[in-house]
Amino acid sequence: MAQRLTMEDLVSLSKRRGFVYQSSEIYGGLTSAWDYGPMGVELKNRLQRFWWKEMTQLHDNIVGLDAAILMHPRVWEASGHVENFTDPLVEDKVTHERFRWDQLPEENQKNMTSPAGNPLTEPRQFNLMFKTRLGSTEDSASDVFLRPETAQGIYVNFKNVSQTMRVKLPFGIAQIGKAFRNEITTKNFIFRTCEFEQMEMQFFVKPGDDQQWFNYWKTERMDFYKKLGIHPERLRFHQHGPDELAHYAREAYDIEYEFPFGWQELEGVHNRTDFDLSRHSEYSGKDLRYLDEESKERYIPYVVETSAGLTRSVLMVLADAFEEEEVGENDTRSVMRFHPDIAPITIGVFPLVKKDGLAELAREIEKNLREDFSTFYDQGGAIGRRYRRQDEIGTPYCITIDYQTKEDRTVTLRYRDSMEQIRVPVAEIGEAVRKATREYRRVGA
Ligand code: ATP
Repeated sequence: MAQRLTMEDLVSLSKRRGFVYQSSEIYGGLTSAWDYGPMGVELKNRLQRFWWKEMTQLHDNIVGLDAAILMHPRVWEASGHVENFTDPLVEDKVTHERFRWDQLPEENQKNMTSPAGNPLTEPRQFNLMFKTRLGSTEDSASDVFLRPETAQGIYVNFKNVSQTMRVKLPFGIAQIGKAFRNEITTKNFIFRTCEFEQMEMQFFVKPGDDQQWFNYWKTERMDFYKKLGIHPERLRFHQHGPDELAHYAREAYDIEYEFPFGWQELEGVHNRTDFDLSRHSEYSGKDLRYLDEESKERYIPYVVETSAGLTRSVLMVLADAFEEEEVGENDTRSVMRFHPDIAPITIGVFPLVKKDGLAELAREIEKNLREDFSTFYDQGGAIGRRYRRQDEIGTPYCITIDYQTKEDRTVTLRYRDSMEQIRVPVAEIGEAVRKATREYRRVGA
């Protein structure tokens, strides 16, 4: 069983290795806001590309969309967010610290006391949407919301997409983007933040076909995480019971991951019925029914939604990739076992020594690889140290240029996970790396 990091370790490792920094740190930081550093932004971008490829490129009936964060205020009335997107809020009467009532231990709920033992205010419903104003003057300004989910941008574009892209049911629309929620309690690093990113796909189906597609997407989405190399024993489904089901949902499962602080939701797969499109039809006055050319019927499609957190997935990937393993006698190494497709750097390039023209040769080889791969050139320190530094940020491949390279144009290619080293002609590095990436399997999986 691989060793797990505590959250404290994870936060400090993320900072040390350039993945995630606290927002505005030199000013003392801002609660719940985090910045992605040079390694973190690469990891996040690659993870989102991995999802995008999986959902759009590898499915012939899913198209993409990038809708605006600000939307017409009526959208949020139709969606039910103005009325229902609330959490029960209580406040410690002494310290004024705020808590989500439903997340307090039963004992505290019963006694109406905060974890510090002070009396609490009565629970009140707190709307999680951030309100802002649109317009150049205060007078003419109108209230708008920062979207609390990306899904509504998809529903309101259903007609545009179906008419302009000539897609037929069943089809899906995928979107990645920022969402904002004024969470009462933000904790656990980037797990729950007020500004975060979602990767959502809404799949439109004929009523009656929804159950079959719901089952399909439930399996597909779980398989996605396994393909990403996540420990399968740290993944599970959680079915929403009747008291957990959202007002629009007929059936819902969460895909949960065992974070260092316990099992928590990573993604939701929901059968949303015809709720969303019916409501937008009603509120906008536009007919959002779909004309089925075969049966000549018009109907409001059902929606199966897959809704994942991108920033939350970054946390999952960081927590899951970390391993400390013994190498040889009395030696250990720290390695991030990222899937090669999402590792911030794909190939580390080192000259064995700086002299005798090896550094120049290594530079030249690295320059040629840059067009196709993200590379990192390092000529500092012992070669073993350089390998370890790349292991620590999860670089799956390293190549070393040595004296033999000058003679026969071959290099040493070293694999992160097995630490195996093979000799490869310079001209074949790209293919060797692509092949290993295609065949990648998580160690032990
Ligand atoms: P919760 O009940 O924990 O507040 P939710 O069930 O409302 O979350 P959804 O609305 O289903 O969450 O959001 C879909 C996904 O978006 C979640 O599975 C999660 O990965 C991500 N997500 C939601 N809220 C946040 C947040 N505050 N910070 C980071 N990611 C979030």
